[in-house]
Amino acid sequence: MDHFPIFLATEGQRIALSGGGEAALAKLRLLLKTRARINVYAAEPAEEITAWAEAGKLTLHRRAFGPGDALCTRLFYAADEDAEEDRRTAAIARAEGALVNIVDNLHDSAFITPAIVDRDPVTVAIGTEGAAPVLARAIKADLEERLPTSLGTLARIGKGFRKLADALPFGRPRRDFWRDYYFNAGPRALADGADAVETGLHDLLDAHMNRAARPGHVAFVGGGPGDPELLTLKARRALDEADVVIYDRLISAEILELARREALMIDVGKEGFGPSTSQQTINNLLVEHAGSGAQVVRLKSGDATVFGRLDEEIDAIDAHGIGWHIVPGITSASAAVATIGQSLTRRGRNASVRFLTGHDMKGFADHDWAALARPDEVAAIYMGKKSARFVQGRLIMHGADRATPVTVIENASRPDQRVLATTLDRMAADIADAAMTGPALTFYGLAPRAAAQAATDMPIEEMA
Ligand code: SAH
Repeated sequence: MDHFPIFLATEGQRIALSGGGEAALAKLRLLLKTRARINVYAAEPAEEITAWAEAGKLTLHRRAFGPGDALCTRLFYAADEDAEEDRRTAAIARAEGALVNIVDNLHDSAFITPAIVDRDPVTVAIGTEGAAPVLARAIKADLEERLPTSLGTLARIGKGFRKLADALPFGRPRRDFWRDYYFNAGPRALADGADAVETGLHDLLDAHMNRAARPGHVAFVGGGPGDPELLTLKARRALDEADVVIYDRLISAEILELARREALMIDVGKEGFGPSTSQQTINNLLVEHAGSGAQVVRLKSGDATVFGRLDEEIDAIDAHGIGWHIVPGITSASAAVATIGQSLTRRGRNASVRFLTGHDMKGFADHDWAALARPDEVAAIYMGKKSARFVQGRLIMHGADRATPVTVIENASRPDQRVLATTLDRMAADIADAAMTGPALTFYGLAPRAAAQAATDMPIEEMA
């Protein structure tokens, strides 16, 4: 970086410019945005310059710039578009102590005038050190589009409110307040005029003061199987109030939509057997955010207490004395069994049901297969696609009836839900053939109830 960007105080300061043509006009249009005292030296000034002089916006000297004209002058622009004349005026100004800019002569200039996006008091200055004016213009055009013109108004009102907002604790609470103001509450209130913005600021501050008084906290929230209508009211409320949401891969976009717009959303999705955010990193994120006072929602699919590695996370935040609670959710076994119109338990059939996982951290998970292989047993198998052949093999080996019904529900409760009805004998082959890519729950010992088809209006694939 050869040129260091700064914002120069100009109120009441003298800025001089020599020249009366196009180059002079371009610079003056920018300079007139300031509150500097502008002196222009031009024997033949353009009409606009004369008009600005008449309107009292600048002082016009209808003669060439000469010795003594740059005394007590902050900035000098040599804008005569004549190399010889520019060299002469620049030498005088330099000698009299002004910082000199020669238009279109970067090499002999002491400073550059950047491209500017003006949302006063918010100003974005873009410089390329002369390397790529085209690029500077493109960036400027892009920012002009991206920054709403209301930004300046909001910033001006916000500036007057800074002292009051300092009542909020320094750091996150104060940052959150301003973020909320600039990107959410402010623009919304501005639709009703500047007065509404002022009033709104007081209400917003009250709300943030209340929130800031609460210590950091983690809510472990069960997000259910995917359908947002299967969220609990408590889950909904926790999302409403969260400063930070740390969520898993299986959380659907519709549910993430329910979080506050200004909440920080952190994706720690695990992609099956693929790369994932390590448990340690997730623990650290929880401690970091709740530790600095945030209301954190740790959003897990289904029910947080079922195959969710919840205890590891609780231990981590407990070790830091951070408060937490659990909001139960609908586990995918409940959603899936509803889909096929069955009960998880049934008098005279099974008085217990197992929730088991096809694999754990060490590989395929072992279970009491002999017990499960007895007639009329029911199990909900999570993460069971890849381990289908293993589970099938163990059950058959322990004497299970090969005709035992097996039902696989993919994307339970979601629009792309699929139900595959098969048997123990065929389950591995049928699951492979079905090429399921979504999360799937396998029921061992349950077939879709025949009458369930009409009620759910979802197709059932009969592969056997
Ligand atoms: N805590 C979650 C389970 C996490 S383990 C719960 O209570 O549901 C991830 C496994 O859950 C997936 O491999 C799949 O077996 C199951 N699962 C999650 N969402 C599902 C859905 N919408 N449909 C079917 N199975 C789902």
